[in-house]
Amino acid sequence: MQIPFVDLNTQHKPIRKEIDAAIKSVIKSGKFIFGPEVEKFEKETAEYCGTKFAVSVASGTDAIKIALLSCGIEKGDEVITTPFTFIATSETIILCGAKPVFADIDPSTCNIDPAKIESLITKKTKAILPVHLFGHSCDMDKIKKIAKKYNLKIIEDCAQSMGTLYKGKQTGSLGNAGALSFFPSKNLGCFGDGGMVVTNNSETAEKAKIFRNHGQIKKYHYSLHGYNSRLDTIQAAVLSIKLKHLNKWIEKRQTAALTYNKYLANTEIITPSSAPYTTHSFNYYTIKIPGKRNQIKESLAEKGIYTEIYYPLSLHLQEVYKNLGYKLGDFPNAELCQNEVLSLPMHPELKEKQIKYICECILDNIG
Ligand SMILES: *Cc1c(COP(=O)(O)O)cnc(C)c1O
Repeated sequence: MQIPFVDLNTQHKPIRKEIDAAIKSVIKSGKFIFGPEVEKFEKETAEYCGTKFAVSVASGTDAIKIALLSCGIEKGDEVITTPFTFIATSETIILCGAKPVFADIDPSTCNIDPAKIESLITKKTKAILPVHLFGHSCDMDKIKKIAKKYNLKIIEDCAQSMGTLYKGKQTGSLGNAGALSFFPSKNLGCFGDGGMVVTNNSETAEKAKIFRNHGQIKKYHYSLHGYNSRLDTIQAAVLSIKLKHLNKWIEKRQTAALTYNKYLANTEIITPSSAPYTTHSFNYYTIKIPGKRNQIKESLAEKGIYTEIYYPLSLHLQEVYKNLGYKLGDFPNAELCQNEVLSLPMHPELKEKQIKYICECILDNIG
Protein backbone atom coordinates (compact mmCIF):
# COMPACT_ATOMS: atom_id res chain seq x y z
CA MET A 1 0.00 0.00 0.00
CA GLN A 2 1.52 3.33 -1.13
CA ILE A 3 0.84 6.06 1.43
CA PRO A 4 1.89 9.60 0.55
CA PHE A 5 2.96 12.13 3.18
CA VAL A 6 0.29 14.59 2.08
CA ASP A 7 -2.51 14.04 -0.44
CA LEU A 8 -3.59 17.34 -1.95
CA ASN A 9 -5.49 15.83 -4.90
CA THR A 10 -7.86 14.00 -2.59
CA GLN A 11 -8.30 17.16 -0.54
CA HIS A 12 -9.12 19.28 -3.58
CA LYS A 13 -11.41 16.82 -5.35
CA PRO A 14 -14.70 17.87 -3.68
CA ILE A 15 -13.96 21.60 -4.17
CA ARG A 16 -12.27 21.49 -7.57
CA LYS A 17 -15.26 22.91 -9.47
CA GLU A 18 -15.53 25.88 -7.13
CA ILE A 19 -11.78 26.51 -7.27
CA ASP A 20 -11.63 26.19 -11.06
CA ALA A 21 -14.45 28.72 -11.40
CA ALA A 22 -12.72 31.16 -9.02
CA ILE A 23 -9.44 30.90 -10.95
CA LYS A 24 -11.25 31.40 -14.26
CA SER A 25 -12.95 34.47 -12.88
CA VAL A 26 -9.62 36.03 -11.84
CA ILE A 27 -8.17 35.28 -15.27
CA LYS A 28 -11.19 36.92 -16.88
CA SER A 29 -10.84 40.01 -14.65
CA GLY A 30 -7.15 40.39 -15.50
CA LYS A 31 -6.53 41.77 -12.00
CA PHE A 32 -3.67 39.45 -11.12
CA ILE A 33 -2.05 41.78 -8.56
CA PHE A 34 -4.14 43.28 -5.72
CA GLY A 35 -7.43 42.13 -7.23
CA PRO A 36 -10.48 42.38 -4.93
CA GLU A 37 -10.03 38.74 -3.84
CA VAL A 38 -6.84 39.73 -2.00
CA GLU A 39 -8.50 42.19 0.35
CA LYS A 40 -11.44 39.84 0.79
CA PHE A 41 -9.15 37.02 1.87
CA GLU A 42 -7.21 39.35 4.19
CA LYS A 43 -10.47 40.27 5.94
CA GLU A 44 -11.45 36.61 6.23
CA THR A 45 -8.05 35.70 7.66
CA ALA A 46 -8.14 38.51 10.24
CA GLU A 47 -11.57 37.32 11.28
CA TYR A 48 -10.43 33.70 11.47
CA CYS A 49 -7.33 34.57 13.53
CA GLY A 50 -9.15 37.02 15.77
CA THR A 51 -6.80 39.87 14.87
CA LYS A 52 -7.68 43.39 13.76
CA PHE A 53 -5.45 43.26 10.69
CA ALA A 54 -4.09 40.78 8.16
CA VAL A 55 -1.60 41.76 5.45
CA SER A 56 -0.98 39.20 2.72
CA VAL A 57 2.52 38.60 1.37
CA ALA A 58 4.25 36.27 -1.09
CA SER A 59 5.31 33.47 1.31
CA GLY A 60 5.52 32.40 4.94
CA THR A 61 9.20 33.32 4.91
CA ASP A 62 8.34 36.85 3.79
CA ALA A 63 5.60 36.97 6.43
CA ILE A 64 8.20 36.39 9.19
CA LYS A 65 10.66 38.86 7.66
CA ILE A 66 8.04 41.58 7.15
CA ALA A 67 6.54 40.96 10.60
CA LEU A 68 9.99 41.41 12.17
CA LEU A 69 10.72 44.57 10.15
CA SER A 70 7.28 45.99 10.88
CA CYS A 71 7.87 45.43 14.60
CA GLY A 72 11.05 47.49 14.30
CA ILE A 73 13.68 44.76 14.31
CA GLU A 74 16.82 46.09 12.64
CA LYS A 75 20.57 45.88 12.29
CA GLY A 76 22.39 45.04 15.51
CA ASP A 77 19.34 43.64 17.31
CA GLU A 78 19.17 40.17 18.79
CA VAL A 79 16.13 37.91 18.46
CA ILE A 80 15.75 34.85 20.68
CA THR A 81 14.34 31.79 18.93
CA THR A 82 14.47 28.01 18.78
CA PRO A 83 17.23 26.04 17.03
CA PHE A 84 14.75 23.26 16.22
CA THR A 85 12.79 24.72 13.33
CA PHE A 86 12.82 25.30 9.58
CA ILE A 87 15.64 27.58 8.49
CA ALA A 88 13.23 30.34 7.40
CA THR A 89 12.79 31.24 11.08
CA SER A 90 16.43 32.23 11.61
CA GLU A 91 17.15 33.22 7.99
CA THR A 92 14.59 36.03 8.22
CA ILE A 93 16.15 37.35 11.45
CA ILE A 94 19.46 37.61 9.60
CA LEU A 95 17.82 39.19 6.54
CA CYS A 96 16.64 41.99 8.87
CA GLY A 97 20.27 42.57 9.88
CA ALA A 98 19.64 41.09 13.32
CA LYS A 99 21.23 38.08 15.02
CA PRO A 100 19.40 34.89 15.98
CA VAL A 101 20.13 33.74 19.54
CA PHE A 102 19.03 30.17 20.13
CA ALA A 103 17.38 28.84 23.27
CA ASP A 104 17.01 25.07 23.78
CA ILE A 105 13.66 23.34 23.41
CA ASP A 106 11.40 21.43 25.73
CA PRO A 107 11.92 17.84 24.51
CA SER A 108 8.29 16.89 25.15
CA THR A 109 6.81 19.47 22.74
CA CYS A 110 9.93 20.28 20.65
CA ASN A 111 9.05 23.98 21.20
CA ILE A 112 11.26 26.68 22.73
CA ASP A 113 11.61 26.18 26.49
CA PRO A 114 10.56 29.45 28.18
CA ALA A 115 12.85 28.65 31.11
CA LYS A 116 15.87 28.91 28.78
CA ILE A 117 15.07 32.40 27.48
CA GLU A 118 15.73 34.85 30.31
CA SER A 119 19.45 34.14 30.75
CA LEU A 120 20.03 34.94 27.05
CA ILE A 121 18.63 38.45 27.21
CA THR A 122 21.15 41.25 26.63
CA LYS A 123 20.88 44.98 25.95
CA LYS A 124 20.59 44.11 22.26
CA THR A 125 17.65 41.72 22.63
CA LYS A 126 14.58 43.17 20.91
CA ALA A 127 12.26 40.25 20.34
CA ILE A 128 11.35 36.62 20.96
CA LEU A 129 10.36 34.52 17.96
CA PRO A 130 8.48 31.43 19.17
CA VAL A 131 7.64 28.74 16.59
CA HIS A 132 4.52 26.67 17.20
CA LEU A 133 6.13 23.55 15.79
CA PHE A 134 4.05 20.78 14.19
CA GLY A 135 0.84 22.66 15.14
CA HIS A 136 1.36 22.62 18.93
CA SER A 137 1.44 26.06 20.55
CA CYS A 138 4.38 27.25 22.62
CA ASP A 139 3.83 27.96 26.32
CA MET A 140 2.84 31.55 25.54
CA ASP A 141 1.91 32.95 28.96
CA LYS A 142 5.43 32.24 30.18
CA ILE A 143 6.94 33.81 27.04
CA LYS A 144 4.64 36.83 27.30
CA LYS A 145 5.65 37.37 30.93
CA ILE A 146 9.35 37.50 29.97
CA ALA A 147 8.61 39.80 27.00
CA LYS A 148 6.69 42.16 29.26
CA LYS A 149 9.41 42.24 31.92
CA TYR A 150 12.14 43.14 29.40
CA ASN A 151 9.99 45.12 26.97
CA LEU A 152 10.53 42.70 24.07
CA LYS A 153 8.37 42.16 21.00
CA ILE A 154 6.88 38.75 20.26
CA ILE A 155 6.65 37.62 16.65
CA GLU A 156 5.00 34.21 16.31
CA ASP A 157 6.02 31.81 13.54
CA CYS A 158 2.65 30.17 12.82
CA ALA A 159 3.68 28.52 9.56
CA GLN A 160 2.69 25.13 11.00
CA SER A 161 -0.02 26.23 13.42
CA MET A 162 -2.81 28.02 11.59
CA GLY A 163 -5.98 26.99 13.45
CA THR A 164 -4.25 26.04 16.70
CA LEU A 165 -5.97 27.49 19.75
CA TYR A 166 -3.84 28.54 22.73
CA LYS A 167 -6.22 28.94 25.71
CA GLY A 168 -9.01 29.51 23.21
CA LYS A 169 -7.15 32.07 21.10
CA GLN A 170 -5.64 31.53 17.66
CA THR A 171 -1.86 31.39 17.45
CA GLY A 172 -0.76 34.52 15.63
CA SER A 173 -2.99 36.70 17.79
CA LEU A 174 -0.95 36.25 20.97
CA GLY A 175 2.04 38.55 20.42
CA ASN A 176 2.83 41.71 18.45
CA ALA A 177 2.55 39.95 15.08
CA GLY A 178 2.08 36.46 13.67
CA ALA A 179 3.34 34.97 10.41
CA LEU A 180 1.26 32.44 8.46
CA SER A 181 2.41 30.30 5.54
CA PHE A 182 0.18 29.00 2.76
CA PHE A 183 2.83 26.64 1.35
CA PRO A 184 0.82 23.75 -0.14
CA SER A 185 1.52 21.27 2.68
CA LYS A 186 0.58 23.60 5.55
CA ASN A 187 -2.79 23.43 7.33
CA LEU A 188 -4.13 25.94 4.80
CA GLY A 189 -2.20 25.64 1.56
CA CYS A 190 -2.52 27.51 -1.72
CA PHE A 191 -1.48 26.49 -5.25
CA GLY A 192 2.07 27.78 -4.86
CA ASP A 193 3.62 30.17 -2.34
CA GLY A 194 1.74 32.57 -0.09
CA GLY A 195 1.81 34.06 3.39
CA MET A 196 0.17 36.52 5.77
CA VAL A 197 1.15 38.84 8.60
CA VAL A 198 -1.56 39.09 11.27
CA THR A 199 -1.51 41.72 14.02
CA ASN A 200 -3.69 43.76 16.34
CA ASN A 201 -1.45 46.81 15.96
CA SER A 202 -2.48 49.31 13.27
CA GLU A 203 1.02 50.75 12.93
CA THR A 204 2.56 47.30 12.42
CA ALA A 205 -0.10 46.50 9.81
CA GLU A 206 0.50 49.78 7.97
CA LYS A 207 4.25 49.17 7.94
CA ALA A 208 3.76 45.62 6.66
CA LYS A 209 1.69 46.97 3.77
CA ILE A 210 4.49 49.39 2.89
CA PHE A 211 7.25 46.76 3.18
CA ARG A 212 5.44 44.25 0.95
CA ASN A 213 5.04 46.75 -1.87
CA HIS A 214 8.50 48.28 -2.45
CA GLY A 215 8.23 50.70 0.47
CA GLN A 216 5.54 52.60 -1.38
CA ILE A 217 3.31 54.98 0.63
CA LYS A 218 1.45 56.33 -2.37
CA LYS A 219 1.89 55.68 -6.05
CA TYR A 220 5.61 56.04 -6.90
CA HIS A 221 6.41 57.64 -3.52
CA TYR A 222 8.57 55.54 -1.18
CA SER A 223 9.22 55.93 2.53
CA LEU A 224 11.61 52.99 3.03
CA HIS A 225 13.40 50.10 1.29
CA GLY A 226 10.79 47.44 0.79
CA TYR A 227 10.20 44.27 -1.21
CA ASN A 228 8.08 42.87 -3.99
CA SER A 229 6.10 40.51 -1.79
CA ARG A 230 2.44 40.34 -2.68
CA LEU A 231 -0.03 37.47 -2.60
CA ASP A 232 -1.28 36.75 -6.13
CA THR A 233 -4.99 37.34 -6.68
CA ILE A 234 -5.35 33.77 -7.95
CA GLN A 235 -3.87 32.41 -4.71
CA ALA A 236 -6.17 34.60 -2.62
CA ALA A 237 -9.19 33.33 -4.55
CA VAL A 238 -8.16 29.70 -3.96
CA LEU A 239 -7.43 30.35 -0.28
CA SER A 240 -10.82 32.00 0.32
CA ILE A 241 -12.51 28.81 -0.80
CA LYS A 242 -10.21 26.53 1.18
CA LEU A 243 -10.44 28.61 4.39
CA LYS A 244 -14.11 27.64 4.75
CA HIS A 245 -12.99 24.01 5.15
CA LEU A 246 -10.01 24.60 7.45
CA ASN A 247 -11.67 23.83 10.79
CA LYS A 248 -13.18 20.61 9.43
CA TRP A 249 -9.79 19.57 8.01
CA ILE A 250 -8.10 20.25 11.35
CA GLU A 251 -10.71 18.12 13.13
CA LYS A 252 -9.92 15.32 10.68
CA ARG A 253 -6.21 15.70 11.40
CA GLN A 254 -6.99 15.46 15.12
CA THR A 255 -9.06 12.32 14.55
CA ALA A 256 -6.22 10.79 12.54
CA ALA A 257 -3.80 11.68 15.36
CA LEU A 258 -6.01 9.94 17.93
CA THR A 259 -6.10 6.88 15.70
CA TYR A 260 -2.31 6.86 15.48
CA ASN A 261 -2.12 7.29 19.28
CA LYS A 262 -4.42 4.30 19.72
CA TYR A 263 -2.35 1.96 17.55
CA LEU A 264 0.96 3.13 19.05
CA ALA A 265 -0.16 3.08 22.68
CA ASN A 266 1.82 0.95 25.13
CA THR A 267 4.82 0.61 22.84
CA GLU A 268 8.25 2.22 23.01
CA ILE A 269 7.15 4.80 20.42
CA ILE A 270 6.69 8.24 21.99
CA THR A 271 3.52 9.78 20.54
CA PRO A 272 3.16 13.61 20.27
CA SER A 273 2.48 15.32 23.57
CA SER A 274 -0.40 17.72 23.88
CA ALA A 275 -0.16 20.30 26.67
CA PRO A 276 -3.37 21.33 28.45
CA TYR A 277 -3.00 25.00 27.39
CA THR A 278 -3.37 24.31 23.66
CA THR A 279 -5.17 22.39 20.96
CA HIS A 280 -2.97 20.62 18.42
CA SER A 281 -3.73 21.21 14.73
CA PHE A 282 -1.34 18.42 13.65
CA ASN A 283 0.21 19.98 10.61
CA TYR A 284 2.61 17.14 11.33
CA TYR A 285 2.17 14.02 13.42
CA THR A 286 5.64 13.57 14.82
CA ILE A 287 6.65 10.58 16.92
CA LYS A 288 9.93 9.92 18.67
CA ILE A 289 11.72 6.62 18.30
CA PRO A 290 14.72 6.30 20.61
CA GLY A 291 17.51 4.36 18.89
CA LYS A 292 15.79 2.94 15.82
CA ARG A 293 14.48 6.01 13.99
CA ASN A 294 16.56 5.72 10.80
CA GLN A 295 16.03 1.97 10.54
CA ILE A 296 12.26 2.38 10.86
CA LYS A 297 12.16 5.24 8.34
CA GLU A 298 13.97 3.04 5.80
CA SER A 299 11.76 0.07 6.41
CA LEU A 300 8.61 2.20 5.97
CA ALA A 301 10.00 3.63 2.72
CA GLU A 302 10.51 0.09 1.39
CA LYS A 303 6.81 -0.51 2.00
CA GLY A 304 5.77 2.67 0.16
CA ILE A 305 5.09 4.74 3.28
CA TYR A 306 6.53 8.24 3.03
CA THR A 307 7.83 9.86 6.20
CA GLU A 308 9.94 12.95 6.89
CA ILE A 309 12.46 14.04 9.50
CA TYR A 310 11.65 17.50 10.81
CA TYR A 311 14.47 18.28 11.53
CA PRO A 312 17.59 16.12 11.06
CA LEU A 313 20.12 18.83 12.02
CA SER A 314 19.38 21.53 14.53
CA LEU A 315 20.09 25.05 13.24
CA HIS A 316 22.96 25.76 15.67
CA LEU A 317 24.91 22.92 14.02
CA GLN A 318 24.34 24.07 10.43
CA GLU A 319 27.36 25.03 8.37
CA VAL A 320 25.74 28.33 7.42
CA TYR A 321 25.72 29.39 11.09
CA LYS A 322 29.33 28.45 11.90
CA ASN A 323 30.03 32.12 12.52
CA LEU A 324 27.48 32.21 15.36
CA GLY A 325 29.92 30.12 17.38
CA TYR A 326 27.69 27.30 18.58
CA LYS A 327 28.94 23.75 19.04
CA LEU A 328 27.65 20.22 19.59
CA GLY A 329 26.36 19.93 23.14
CA ASP A 330 25.03 23.50 23.36
CA PHE A 331 21.38 22.45 23.05
CA PRO A 332 21.07 18.84 24.28
CA ASN A 333 17.28 18.66 23.87
CA ALA A 334 17.33 19.86 20.26
CA GLU A 335 20.18 17.44 19.58
CA LEU A 336 18.25 14.58 21.14
CA CYS A 337 15.09 15.36 19.15
CA GLN A 338 16.94 15.61 15.82
CA ASN A 339 17.97 11.97 16.26
CA GLU A 340 14.59 10.64 17.38
CA VAL A 341 11.80 12.49 15.55
CA LEU A 342 9.89 11.02 12.64
CA SER A 343 6.87 12.71 11.05
CA LEU A 344 4.34 10.19 9.74
CA PRO A 345 1.90 10.71 6.86
CA MET A 346 -0.69 13.26 8.02
CA HIS A 347 -3.52 14.82 6.06
CA PRO A 348 -7.26 15.19 6.63
CA GLU A 349 -8.08 12.41 4.16
CA LEU A 350 -6.00 9.74 5.88
CA LYS A 351 -8.08 6.58 6.47
CA GLU A 352 -8.07 4.44 9.62
CA LYS A 353 -6.96 1.40 7.63
CA GLN A 354 -3.96 3.33 6.29
CA ILE A 355 -3.01 4.46 9.79
CA LYS A 356 -3.38 0.92 11.11
CA TYR A 357 -1.10 -0.36 8.35
CA ILE A 358 1.53 2.33 9.02
CA CYS A 359 1.52 1.51 12.75
CA GLU A 360 1.77 -2.23 12.10
CA CYS A 361 4.76 -1.60 9.83
CA ILE A 362 6.39 0.49 12.56
CA LEU A 363 5.74 -2.07 15.28
CA ASP A 364 7.07 -4.90 13.05
CA ASN A 365 10.47 -3.29 13.47
CA ILE A 366 10.28 -3.21 17.23
CA GLY A 367 9.24 -6.78 17.89
C1 LIG B 1 7.04 26.41 6.13
C2 LIG B 1 7.68 27.15 7.22
C3 LIG B 1 8.16 28.47 7.05
C4 LIG B 1 8.25 29.16 5.72
O1 LIG B 1 7.08 29.25 5.00
P1 LIG B 1 7.14 29.37 3.39
O2 LIG B 1 5.74 29.72 3.04
O3 LIG B 1 7.57 28.05 2.86
O4 LIG B 1 8.09 30.47 3.05
C5 LIG B 1 8.64 29.14 8.16
N1 LIG B 1 8.70 28.55 9.36
C6 LIG B 1 8.29 27.29 9.56
C7 LIG B 1 8.37 26.70 10.93
C8 LIG B 1 7.78 26.54 8.49
O5 LIG B 1 7.39 25.27 8.69
